[in-house]
Amino acid sequence: MKVTFWGVRGSIATSGSRFARFGGNTTCLEVTHGDAQLVFDAGTGLRALGQKMMEEGRAQRDVTFFFSHLHWDHIQGFPFFTPAFVPGTKIELYGPVDEDGVTTLYDALDQQMKPPCFPVTLDMMASEKHFTTVASGDTVSTGPFDVSMRALNHPQGSLGYRIEVGGRSVCFATDTEHHEGAIDDAILDLARDVDLLIYDAQYTEDEYEGRAGPPRKGWGHSTYVAATEIARAAGAKQLALFHHDPMHDDAMVERMEQDAKTRFANTFAAREGLEIDV
Ligand SMILES: [Zn+2]
Ligand SMILES: [Zn+2]
Repeated sequence: MKVTFWGVRGSIATSGSRFARFGGNTTCLEVTHGDAQLVFDAGTGLRALGQKMMEEGRAQRDVTFFFSHLHWDHIQGFPFFTPAFVPGTKIELYGPVDEDGVTTLYDALDQQMKPPCFPVTLDMMASEKHFTTVASGDTVSTGPFDVSMRALNHPQGSLGYRIEVGGRSVCFATDTEHHEGAIDDAILDLARDVDLLIYDAQYTEDEYEGRAGPPRKGWGHSTYVAATEIARAAGAKQLALFHHDPMHDDAMVERMEQDAKTRFANTFAAREGLEIDV
């Protein structure tokens, strides 16, 4: 399986030369196995993936999306996903309902593509789209992949995913806050013995505790130190620090990466454009 990071930033897209090395686009991950393709989240990184699919003549291939949740940094790229405008493209979309129990993935994508926010509506995209609501505990078998999911700890909720194919496994757990003093059972389940754990490492301990700016407790994100502890507890083989804070420039992310490596050696900070064979 191959994992490509198209967007690694959290909260809001971030531009500027100080952010160029790790990249400023928000969450989007592509997972492929042979010709089969999954996309996790539709942050602004999705736009470049769509362009690449168009250039490679892949627009009319089936594409399957899974969404962690409906916050804007995870859906904003969808209106700019060019293959969705191509007649004949079939798009499967799996995602959670908001914690209100009513607002679906369709509603969230639909609402962000309506005047006055956007002139092109979801229904104007000529592709064939099929929406399925998923929830914690579900497993979806699609193509060669088995994808299972568990609820994470985040405002309005978030789903973490475990992707398995050909005896290899990846856990994608972003937008989640760790439980202080205990490892989250949901992530332990999803990440047990995985080849790659991609985990929300937005903050330093100082930021989280309020020693550098306001305390971030309850904001729904974790720290790189917690990331290394969860990776060790789960027996993950490799750890990717993910959902970089928009305030963290390349030098800062690099410092976090270096310190994380001293705690869990096989760690790297995810950066836009990186491809990993798992
Ligand atoms: Zn986010
Ligand atoms: Zn979020």
